[in-house]
Amino acid sequence: MTETTLDAPAPETRVFEADVARLLHLMVHAVYSDRDVFLRELIANAADACEKLRYETHANPSLASDDLPRITITLDADQRRLTVADNGIGMTEADMIEALGTIARSGTRAFMDKLAAAKDGESPQLIGQFGVGFYSAFMVADSVDVTSRRAGTDQAHRWSSDGLGTYSIAPVALDEAPAQGTRVVLHLKEDATQYTERFAVERIIRAQSGHVPVPITLFDKPDGEAGEVTDGSALWTRAKADITPEEYTDFYRSAAGQFDVPALTLHYRAEGKHEYTVLAFVPESRPFDLFDPDRSGRMKLYVRRVFITDEAEVLPRYLRFVRGLVDSADLPLNMSREMIQQSPLLAAITKGVTNRVLSELDKLSQSDADKYAAFWDTFGAVLKEGIYEDYGRRETLLGLARFRTTSGGDSWRSLEDYVAGMRDNQTAIYYATGPDRERLASSPQIEGFFARGLEVLLLTDPVDSFWAASGIDYEGKPFKSVTQGLADLGLIPTLDGTEGMAPAAPEADAFIAFVRQCVGDAVSDVRASDRLTTSAACLVASESGMDRQLERLLAASGQTPRGAKPVLELNPRHDLVTRLAALPDDAALKADGAHLLLDEARIADGELPEDIRAFADRLGRVLTKALG
Ligand code: ADP
Ligand code: MG
Repeated sequence: MTETTLDAPAPETRVFEADVARLLHLMVHAVYSDRDVFLRELIANAADACEKLRYETHANPSLASDDLPRITITLDADQRRLTVADNGIGMTEADMIEALGTIARSGTRAFMDKLAAAKDGESPQLIGQFGVGFYSAFMVADSVDVTSRRAGTDQAHRWSSDGLGTYSIAPVALDEAPAQGTRVVLHLKEDATQYTERFAVERIIRAQSGHVPVPITLFDKPDGEAGEVTDGSALWTRAKADITPEEYTDFYRSAAGQFDVPALTLHYRAEGKHEYTVLAFVPESRPFDLFDPDRSGRMKLYVRRVFITDEAEVLPRYLRFVRGLVDSADLPLNMSREMIQQSPLLAAITKGVTNRVLSELDKLSQSDADKYAAFWDTFGAVLKEGIYEDYGRRETLLGLARFRTTSGGDSWRSLEDYVAGMRDNQTAIYYATGPDRERLASSPQIEGFFARGLEVLLLTDPVDSFWAASGIDYEGKPFKSVTQGLADLGLIPTLDGTEGMAPAAPEADAFIAFVRQCVGDAVSDVRASDRLTTSAACLVASESGMDRQLERLLAASGQTPRGAKPVLELNPRHDLVTRLAALPDDAALKADGAHLLLDEARIADGELPEDIRAFADRLGRVLTKALG
């Protein structure tokens, strides 16, 4: 797509990647009530560019300049123009093609996915929720020019686009480009003149970007007077007592790219062996990329106010919802990111901050149960990953965990609550796993536990199947799946005192042997159950087998072929079972009954009968018979 003429290099016109074109179409046509966010995005990019330069300067001192990092915003009402300039790292031609022609960042990618799934009319809210970066400029501009010079080079380029499918890039003379960094010029839409008014723009900057760590200067017209809107002093270096909750929230929003109010704010200075400052937030709502498998965390690492990286694993993966930063006084500035990741200093910081976050959560759980419940609702599924990932903090994490249980109704129960309510002779903490709480609570495997007043944890997050089955215990009490092995409930009387274990009719044993003969291929055993009270049959995993829900999850992700066959348990006191048992062995009805019992148990587990055709035939025969 290159056009060339003989004299000067003509701009090269390129087509946007398909997804960018879609995104831009949305921006250009956005009827958007909160278009102000474009400024936040451009300022954030400018600040990032300044911090990247500061960082690179340590490795490459020749990049150093006398200019202090600064963002300059210039308004021009006559030309209907707004310019955001920075003296940061700048971009080469290749950088521009990559950064401004494709969708590189995962947040924007996630936004696109959400958008594809959104109904008509929902997209405007989504823009505000995600913050779509540079492209948001096209909400307020008919066209955008980006002129940039990469630090350490003597070439400059201009990127231009009207956001309608193509952009162009051409080299520009150095005197037309910033001496250092990037200049973004927005040719504002007719209905966007408010962004050339000084007070309006100042207000927006203060509200959205008041705490970016680079000072921002505003010119109300090209030859106007400079006014400093923010001084770029880092909020986290100030004393806690001097910072208002609003300031924290503003900082959180601009630094974390979140739009809610933090549920928890941690601001402290660690002293002693290592010195560092932490400013961290637990969001109120789920960040969009919470379950992105590549997302390890979003904590920024600074060294003495110099931004180093947001890719260091400052916190373990199960705390990846925490946003904020750590500013270390001890880490050397000239370390590579890889060296930082391996440094024992970072390990010490990780340990300290992790412990602190967990202890703050613990405090919250004791001081404000409702707020903690809201936190747990939002992030519990992530925190639970730590139960099997972080062996050393397992007790702590189990202590923080909250559960829906058969006795808790809609309220959250802790394991402490659970243990306090254990019955005499109860030795294990019982749980059931599955995607649906209601169905779990009404599953046949749970009946015998209900009848004995034994509380069962109803675990519905996929991660539960993993930690619960990992052989751990809480205060010496092992976790035991209600769908695995023998229930061993004989020592615990039922609540109504009937023991539930009225001796089974002598025919029961013979019938069980008969069923084993009929369906023996599909199951590893058939036996009498003490976990059933009102249902006739259920399936459980054998004592040594894998929990059935875990097996289903693994099979669904293609990890392991479904191996061990389940055990079919029959309720020998159930009317249906006793009556089937009383039939002579050669009655066709008896064999149909045996198969239907197995199918019934499969259906109760949310599965299909193994042979649907045979199932339908049997059901038909039995019904016909019943109808006489
Ligand atoms: P993000 O900032 O999350 O990466 P953006 O859409 O805001 O996404 O920006 C895309 C990329 O464009 C940035 O990652 C950066 O590489 C580049 N970029 C944008 N603005 C600037 C700037 N002022 N200076 C240098 N690079 C920039
Ligand atoms: Mg950005």
